[in-house]
Amino acid sequence: MSLPSPSEPRQPLRRLRAALTVRALLAGAAGFAGVALLQPEAAPVAAGGFVLLAACVLWPRRIAPRAISPKRPALERRQIVLWPEAGMKAVVETMRQPALMLDRNMMLRYRNSMSERAFGSMALGDPISLRFRAPELLAAIEAVIKGSGPASVGYTERRPTERTWSVEIAPIPAPQGEAPYFFLVLFQDRSAERRVERIRTDFVANASHELRTPLASMRGFIETLQGPAKDDAAARVRFLAIMHEQAARMSRLIDDLLSLSRIEMKRDVRPEERADLKGVLQEVCEILGPLAEENDVVLEWQPPAEDFVINGDHDELIQVFSNLVENACKYGSSGGRIVLTLAAVQEGGARYFDASVQDFGPGISAEHVPRLTERFYRVDVDASRLKRGTGLGLSIVRNILVRHRARLVVTSKIGEGSTFTARFAR
Ligand code: ADP
Repeated sequence: MSLPSPSEPRQPLRRLRAALTVRALLAGAAGFAGVALLQPEAAPVAAGGFVLLAACVLWPRRIAPRAISPKRPALERRQIVLWPEAGMKAVVETMRQPALMLDRNMMLRYRNSMSERAFGSMALGDPISLRFRAPELLAAIEAVIKGSGPASVGYTERRPTERTWSVEIAPIPAPQGEAPYFFLVLFQDRSAERRVERIRTDFVANASHELRTPLASMRGFIETLQGPAKDDAAARVRFLAIMHEQAARMSRLIDDLLSLSRIEMKRDVRPEERADLKGVLQEVCEILGPLAEENDVVLEWQPPAEDFVINGDHDELIQVFSNLVENACKYGSSGGRIVLTLAAVQEGGARYFDASVQDFGPGISAEHVPRLTERFYRVDVDASRLKRGTGLGLSIVRNILVRHRARLVVTSKIGEGSTFTARFAR
């Protein structure tokens, strides 16, 4: 059984319309002829009236939509070049990045749903410059339309949020060797790579700065000892002590940088061995007992009866809690005590082990808390240097915890102290 073509159901309608048109014209002609016979002086007016009637009856047929016939190739071509065909749109729609189709006049002719998600809704038929203002992007599109061939361009949008895009622009070949009418604009979001790149550049700049400071100080003392203080025995002893301290600071920094890079390399690899958090905290108390004493603080630790075993790297966990206890000794010693706790908790159906280090020192104001684990971030740079800090301790803690699928939760109140809790899933 053959299906009727889309134009078939319209045939009777068209015949009826033709018959009505002929009848209207005949009736009009008869009416105007009658008027002309009865009043010969009105004949020109009647003839004019008839022409007007004929024009009114026939004219709507010319603009009425009709099927594209082989006799009307011009109209057919116009329809194809104004709007991309369904196949083309389907290909653009399947793309997993934002993609637009423009015409030669830089008007938007199609956009896929990914582009709506990235750029919001854009009306078809609007000039592209209504939504995209970056001059480098518009210039690149214009050049491709003028025939420069496919091009790529990068640009950064500042609003609503900063986003960096890399864009490919290519003409879509037209059939029968005609000049391309459509141009594909394909966007790739490079914001994440850009951010990582910036973090890396900042990191290198910060690390060099941290190393250069003690190095410059050592060079200064060496020059003084070689020159003006050459024969000054007392100055020599004093300067050598300072230089020793600066060298120690540099090696602490290098140790921390190496720890950080080692842990970052295996950040996505989960530890396979088992570790007992209770044993870890016990060992940290023993290692840092002397430092606590030196800072006049009491380390309080009541080991629970049960074991707290997780998938974890024992040495890395020692480093996490050593850094936290060391910080509590350095920055929170004024409270006189540091409390270590281990607890099994249940929240929203999930079960955790919480291992906390609490101090009763000056506390940290709220605006600093979210940034504490950034590399080289310090609340007070001079206080950190004075306490032999590198600004990398909490960054190392965070990276080790990420590898253990654990979170660092910091709560702090000015004047009351801070609690750093590592929350492990069990
Ligand atoms: P640092 O080597 O400087 O100690 P960290 O990354 O370990 O670097 O800590 C970053 C900063 O966080 C410290 O410089 C300090 O200002 C602040 N900080 C860390 N722990 C505490 C704490 N227990 N009490 C108050 N401030 C703290």
